[in-house]
Amino acid sequence: MGLYAERSGLINSENAFKMGPHIRFLEAQGRHVVKCNIGEPDFPVPAFIKEEVKRQIDLDNTHYCDPQGIPSLREAIARQISATRGIPAEAERVVVFPGGKPPIGLCQQTYCDPGDEVVYPSPGFPIYESFIPYVGAVPVPIHLKEEDAFSLSGDELAPCLSDRTKLIYLNFPSNPTGGVASPEQLADLARVVRERCGDDVRVYSDEIYEHILFDGETHHSIAACPGMAERTIIVSGASKSFSWTGGRIGWALFPTRDEAEVFKNLNINYFSCTAAYNQEGVRLGLESPQGAAEIKKMVAIFQQRRDLVVAGLNAVEGIRCLKPRGTFYVFPNVAGLCGNLGVFEAFESLPVETREKTSPSTLLQMFLLFEHAVATMDRRSFGRIGAEPYHFLRLSIATGTEELKEGMARIAEAAVDREGFRRFFEAGEHLF
Ligand code: PMP
Repeated sequence: MGLYAERSGLINSENAFKMGPHIRFLEAQGRHVVKCNIGEPDFPVPAFIKEEVKRQIDLDNTHYCDPQGIPSLREAIARQISATRGIPAEAERVVVFPGGKPPIGLCQQTYCDPGDEVVYPSPGFPIYESFIPYVGAVPVPIHLKEEDAFSLSGDELAPCLSDRTKLIYLNFPSNPTGGVASPEQLADLARVVRERCGDDVRVYSDEIYEHILFDGETHHSIAACPGMAERTIIVSGASKSFSWTGGRIGWALFPTRDEAEVFKNLNINYFSCTAAYNQEGVRLGLESPQGAAEIKKMVAIFQQRRDLVVAGLNAVEGIRCLKPRGTFYVFPNVAGLCGNLGVFEAFESLPVETREKTSPSTLLQMFLLFEHAVATMDRRSFGRIGAEPYHFLRLSIATGTEELKEGMARIAEAAVDREGFRRFFEAGEHLF
């Protein structure tokens, strides 16, 4: 008998959190690292929200509260979802969680038995894939294509569905690609779900980047398509919209009150409730026109940075970068760069056991970090299954504009540093 249960080895992780120690190691040596790895806005929480949180603490709103989420926040969420998606939504079907992440795993625990299939986008947010073996379900990645701007059609979804499908993750605007879906695409996906799936299949629509849209795009949810509100769980939160990753407030609108009760009970079992004073802050953020105004300012800055970074990356030989239409990530294809720097040959020369732990884009990521002090994320950080043929990096643009300019300059230098890559690889220290 070992210390850990077998299942504890079956869960994966989010690599973005694993980069911290490498960065601190370099910083301890006096190096200045440009951090393009972080998936959180670099702005402070809007001042009016901070004031409300402070006021709530002074009112001693610091005790246990409704495990489903305080009614005033759930009502504000229901109103916001109704208004933006054009569907009915009641506070009784809303559940508040400590962030947008917990419902990802909790939904797999709730809806999937061992052997059930979970469909998810790859590249995609890594936690969708991470949990699947942990609950004994079967992963079914849908590989999104660069040539389709990483969007997804009904024809691509259809072959991934079977009579064992229980949960389908969608994420628009999408991490890490910045892809968005048009109403026509969502209608196409909805048609396939309606035709191919029974009533007990759930679509998990991760809409946490709903406000981070560029070039006048508007947000659309699959839940608004005919017959879909009954099958879709809409998930969002305050981490991105209000630049408040540390506040840990996310939420889901479930198709039925019964399901909301199940998740409320999981909240009771796992963490009782989330901080009432933060929930009040988010409530005000959603209700006050100041919330929308602050989001607008932040998104305008992200859009300028996106233009700067996409142009900077495309100017580097070997990099090809699409213009994302939402989120604060860019997802360049770096296959050419891996070729120019000799990364593919280096990868092929590794013993099989090492090759299994790394990839060409991982070697490139580590080279950029340790030799040129730019932190990025490799392709494998966004879904491992079937990722081998794809060579991409994700860069976050949620970093100051001057820092991003510096980052682009460093990547341009790295792109011609074939000798530096050879030295880095031969030292063999940070290959995965
Ligand atoms: N979904 C997606 C697609 C995300 O990118 C993130 C955060 N990076 C989350 C969920 C989780 O957000 P939170 O910090 O609110 O848990």
